[in-house]
Order: sequence, then structure tokens, then C-alpha cells
Amino acid sequence: MSTVTTSVSAARHQLVSFNGRLVGPDDNGYDEARKVYNAMIDRRPAFIAHCTTGDEVSQVIGFARAHDLPIAVRGGGHNGAGLGTVDGGVVIDLSPMNGVRVDPVARRARVGGGATWGDVDRATGEHGLATPSGIIASTGVGGLTLGGGLGHLTRRFGLTIDNLLEAEVVLASGRRVWANAESHPDLFWAIRGGGGNFGVVTSFVFRLHEVGTVIGGPTFWSLDDAAEVLAAYREFLPAAPRELNGFFAFASVPPGPPFPEELHLRKVCGIVWCYVGGDEAAAAAAMKPLLDSVPAPLLHGPGPMPHAALQSAFDGVYPAGHQWYWRADFVKEIPDAAIAGHVRFGSAMPTWQSTMHLYPIDGAAHDVAAGDSAWSYRDATWATVYAGVDPDPANTGAIRDWSVGYQEALHPYSAGGAYVNMMMNEGQERVRASYGGNYDRLARIKATYDPDNVFRINQNIRPSA
Ligand SMILES: Cc1cc2nc3c(=O)[nH]c(=O)nc-3n(C[C@H](O)[C@H](O)[C@H](O)COP(=O)(O)OP(=O)(O)OC[C@H]3O[C@@H](n4cnc5c(N)ncnc54)[C@H](O)[C@@H]3O)c2cc1C
Repeated sequence: MSTVTTSVSAARHQLVSFNGRLVGPDDNGYDEARKVYNAMIDRRPAFIAHCTTGDEVSQVIGFARAHDLPIAVRGGGHNGAGLGTVDGGVVIDLSPMNGVRVDPVARRARVGGGATWGDVDRATGEHGLATPSGIIASTGVGGLTLGGGLGHLTRRFGLTIDNLLEAEVVLASGRRVWANAESHPDLFWAIRGGGGNFGVVTSFVFRLHEVGTVIGGPTFWSLDDAAEVLAAYREFLPAAPRELNGFFAFASVPPGPPFPEELHLRKVCGIVWCYVGGDEAAAAAAMKPLLDSVPAPLLHGPGPMPHAALQSAFDGVYPAGHQWYWRADFVKEIPDAAIAGHVRFGSAMPTWQSTMHLYPIDGAAHDVAAGDSAWSYRDATWATVYAGVDPDPANTGAIRDWSVGYQEALHPYSAGGAYVNMMMNEGQERVRASYGGNYDRLARIKATYDPDNVFRINQNIRPSA
């Protein structure tokens, strides 16, 4: 019997009050259960524990520690670096804990640690409410929130963590605690940006905002106009009202409706807009200065839609099971030399799903000071991501080379670190750079809550000595 088979057998004997599913290498469904979103990640855990309660999470942590098995925590499984799984260890899979309870009067939502943003947006959307999140509905609430959370509502309502009111955390000791401004405030500070380093979050409580219909969708321009559009965008967006979010992108027009056939698969640059808190006329007025200052677009598509519809608008372009390789950086400004680099690499996207996004992190995200949460880059204006994506494993080298080449060429114009949720496994110095002045405090809090670094399958913050 192999060691990994022994582990799952021992777990079945010892975890007597575990009611979730334990899936080991000899079980039907093992290959399905060990899959994560990025098909480049192919790891073989000792077993996957589908946990249904915080108590079960606690039991599995105890078992893994007693058997000296590494622990990975899987929320939505979207992490590009594959941090939701581990070779030869235990995966705590939180996907059964995906409940969402909305209190429309208090404007709060309590969300299970394994929910996806689609689960949340659907439930809150029924009440015309929302909290800031990411741009693809299948992304996990767990990983996205703990790393920060950037999306269409960032400029209006801040990062996802800026709307986190409290969280229930299962610690490395197996103890379950609530972290908020009054209870374990140091832990609450750390989980707002510090990733899964401090424990397993089984419940999140978010503040909700009135976000019924938004004016959302892309404007696409010819690549010939990319330098001009990006130069105009870098001036326009930071001065635009907070109601308007717009991330700049290099992408290919998706090959299907609602996009006109003549544009299908054409490489373009674009801005994906989201205007919140006003009608089409207000959105048009907010976008006008930019649109008036650049050449005519190939397509101008923003229109009214429920927020939840915008949140899932690109899900079809990015289904699970494709190869992903991405790199990232924070930037404060975009000098002319950086624009030249963007146009060069943006015009050379190796596959049609490969893309570059510049996510705005100004507006309400700048209302929070760098030391008020673990997320330190409050003075950056954008988070860039260079994402190579393709269904065919034969293209893995091409997407990786493009992403790495792009990031290395543009890194000299960056602020130093990167958004941890959009990094690969890039080494300890890169993690340290990404937390800037907050790293040492994070390391001290890690030493308090997880001195043995039980939670290390993440962008790891090492416990201070
Ligand atoms: C298609 C796509 C679109 C994306 N869009 C955005 C976007 O718009 N905005 C944005 O900010 N990010 C975005 N991301 C990045 C995303 O935030 C990260 O990939 C994030 O890690 C995903 O979280 P997850 O729970 O799905 O991942 P997982 O792989 O399950 O987990 C990622 C990490 O978080 C930890 N973790 C997850 N859940 C918990 C929990 N409940 N408790 C403790 N630790 C936990 C895991 O241990 C692991 O270290 C996107 C990613 C993809 C692939």
C-alpha cells in the first residue's frame, strides 16, 4: 500500500465525526476532485477532504499535523500558481461550504468560505445589492478576498477587503475564532490582504452596497490606436468620477455573440467599463472626455445590465481547464516608454484568450491607508496582470514566455511588488516586496497564530523568529 493510500485509510478510521467526503488516490472521482482551475497544475494530494463545517476543518488540520502532512486550502481553486492543492498532502476543500445569507436591511452578507463570487452576486443581486469582487463569477470568495480583491466596483467601493466586516477563522491549533475590529484585531488586519497564511476562513461577513443596474461592457479600438488610447487613458481614469471604473486591456474579440462577426478573434486594445449609480446618460457623460480624445473605436458596447450579469459576462471566455501562466506588477504611473512596451507585447499575444489587464486601484481603494490592512500598495494606481491562456498544453511554453517576457520588460516601470493573487511561485523576496512595509508586522502576527507555518501553501509569510 502506498503512503498516500495509507493516509486516506488512516483518516477514515480516525476522523470518526467527519461527515464530508474524503477522496483518496484509489477512489472513484479522485482525478476530478484533485483538479484546479489552471490545467497546468497537476498535483496528487494524499487525499481531498470535502469539509462541510468549521469543526470538520479543525479535525482535518489536527489529523494532517499529527501525520506531518502538508495542508492546502481550496476555496474556488482559481489560483494561477495552484496554491489550492499540494502533492502528497491534504487538501481542505471548502466547496461544500458555499452558502450565502443576505440581510438586506442590515446590508450584510454572510458567505461560506468555499463560495464563488457567482454564488454571492446572484444572492445579493436579488436585493439590488453587491460587494466589490472580481470580474469572473467562478472565482473563489476565499482566495480573492484574502489576497485583496480587485474588480468593477473598486473605484466606487474599494477593495473586497475594505468591505469585509468579520470572518470566522480556524487556526493552526484547530481553534475557531471570529476576527473583526474588536476581536483578534491583529488577525483581522492580517487576513485583509495576507492570504491564507493565518488560518482557514469558513465564513466571511461583507458590507453590501446598493448596486442594481450598472452600465457595463467594453469599448474596443484597433491596435494601431493602442499607444494613443493608453496615453489618454492614463490621464483620464485617475481624474474620472469614482462611479466610473474602466480597466484597460489588450485582448482578442471573443468569437461569438454579442460581438459582430467581422471582429471575431481580432486583437484589440480596449477598456471594460462599469458605471455604477447612474443611468446611461450619466455613464456616457463620464466616458465622453476619453472617447472624444482618441480615434473612433471599432466597437462601443456599454449598456445597462444587472451587476451580476456584468460579473459573469466573460465566464464563457475563461472556462476551467485551460492552461494559465501569469505575471503581475503594481504601477503608480505609465510613462511613455512603458506604453511602447505595452504596445509591443500587447500586439504579440500568443493565443486569443491571452490578455493584459490594468486594474484601477485608486478612488475608494485610496481612502484606506497602507498600514490599515495588510494590503500595502495603497499608493499604486493600477495592478497589471499579463495572463497567457490557452486550452492546448502544446502552447504552454508560448504563453509562459510571453507572460514572463512582458512582465520583465515592464517591471522597471513598476512600483516593485505585485498583487499576490496574480503571482506565480516567484520566491520569498517577491512576496516580501508585495507586502512592502507591512511584511514585518505580518511575520509577527504569523508567529502568533501559526508559529509552525502549518499554512504555507500560499504566497508564504514566514513566522518571525
Ligand atoms: C479567471 C480568473 C479571473 C480572476 N479575476 C480576478 C479579479 O477580477 N480580481 C481579483 O482580485 N482576482 C482575480 N483573480 C485572481 C484570484 O483572486 C486568485 O486566483 C485567487 O487566489 C482565487 O481564489 P480561489 O479561492 O478561487 O483560489 P484557490 O486556488 O482555492 O485558493 C487560493 C489561495 O487562497 C487560499 N484560500 C482560498 N480560500 C481560502 C479560505 N476560505 N481560507 C483560507 N485560505 C483560503 C488557498 O489556500 C490558496 O493559498 C482571477 C483569477 C482567475 C483564474
